[in-house]
This record gives sequence, C-alpha cells and structure tokens, in this order.
Amino acid sequence: MKIVMLGAPGAGKGTQAQMIAEKYGIPHISTGDIFRYNIKNGTELGMEAKQYMDKGQLVPDELTVRILLDRVAGEDCAQGYVLDGFPRTIPQAEVLTAELDRMNDRIDYAINIDVPDENIVSRMSGRRACTNCGATYHIVYAAPKKEGICDQCGAVLVQRDDDKPETVLNRLKVYHEQTQPLIDYYGSRNVLKTVDGTGSLQQVFKDITAILEG
Ligand code: AMP
Repeated sequence: MKIVMLGAPGAGKGTQAQMIAEKYGIPHISTGDIFRYNIKNGTELGMEAKQYMDKGQLVPDELTVRILLDRVAGEDCAQGYVLDGFPRTIPQAEVLTAELDRMNDRIDYAINIDVPDENIVSRMSGRRACTNCGATYHIVYAAPKKEGICDQCGAVLVQRDDDKPETVLNRLKVYHEQTQPLIDYYGSRNVLKTVDGTGSLQQVFKDITAILEG
C-alpha cells in the first residue's frame, strides 16, 4: 500500500502518517524529518536544506527528489510506505509517478487532510517536536504524557524554528501556491480521498482507516 499524505502544514499529516505506518507496518517517510536529521548531524545536505527551511521556503525539487527516490528504493519500502511532506510540488509528483510507472506501480491513495487556514496558525503555534527522535506533539490536541518530554524517548520537546508565527504565514502561502495543486493532480488520477481534519486525532484516524480498508 503506497500512500501520499496531503494537507496544509499543521493539518496533522505527520501524526496521522505515524499512526498509519504503525497500524499497517509500513515505513513512514517524511522528507522534513530527513532534512532535520541531516541538519542535526551537520551534513552538507542539511546545511543546504536549512537555508530554505528557516525561511519557510521549499527545498529545491532536484535535491528533494534525489533524497526521496533514494529512500523509497530501500528494501523496507517494497510492501509500501506512507509519504508525509512529499510530493509538495507538481514536478515532484511527476517524478514520483514516472518512477512508479517504470516499475508498473502506482500510488494507491492520496489522503488530503482538510483544515481551514484560520485553524492552521493556532495549531502550528502549539506544535512541539522531540529534539532526539523527531516525534511530534501538540500542547492541546496531542499532548505528551509529561509536559515538554517525549513519550517515546524521554528527550526534551521544543518548538521548531519553522513553526514560529512569522514563518508559518509564509509556509501557508507556499502551500497554497505550490502544494495545493496536488489535490487536483491526484484527483484526476482517481486516488484522492479527502478527510475532515478538524475533528479529534482519533476521529481523523478512524476516517482514514475506513478509506484504506473500504
Ligand atoms: P515538514 O516537516 O514536512 O513540515 O517540512 C519542513 C520543511 O522542510 C518545509 O517547510 C520545507 O522547507 C522542507 N521540505 C520538506 N519536504 C519537502 C519537499 N517535499 N519539498 C521541498 N521542501 C520540503
């Protein structure tokens, strides 16, 4: 099962992707996590990506595509995967489609988590991420058991630089200009499923599993 998650930044893609990956035993692949891992480890890739991420801009397609194709070629991806944060532009989607076509394969579901813009800014300001394993939380909607501490590894949670209000507005603009067209792209390929992302985490997950098992 190959799944693409769509939706504005802060719509809950990451959390739902994590839950899908766990339930169906497939890898959760987040290009944002791959970039952050590289930034933390001071790699050349990390240094290049950081320049764009800090401004709320997209990392250039060429670099992002190379990383993603490399990751999905991994043996653990043979049975499927859930992509979170990729594709984010039409050219990225076209490269992915072409690569899958080449293997006689395709994306089975593009799950669009729909959340109105007015909810996004407040959602993102409450978001916290683990400094060690990258797990994400929300101080209201998905709070960790102990405030400020990661449930999974016990490390400290912080607000990501790109979740600060000034960057959020730019990310939202970039989303509308470059990523939202993917809704039509996957719609025309008959794999688009839209869920209402304003409900509880559990409700959204229930709606998604109903689609995947329907
Ligand atoms: P995310 O964790 O998915 O919200 O991604 C954080 C940031 O990483 C984004 O704001 C972009 O700067 C960068 N990024 C992640 N995925 C992509 C992608 N597919 N294309 C371009 N930039 C990306």
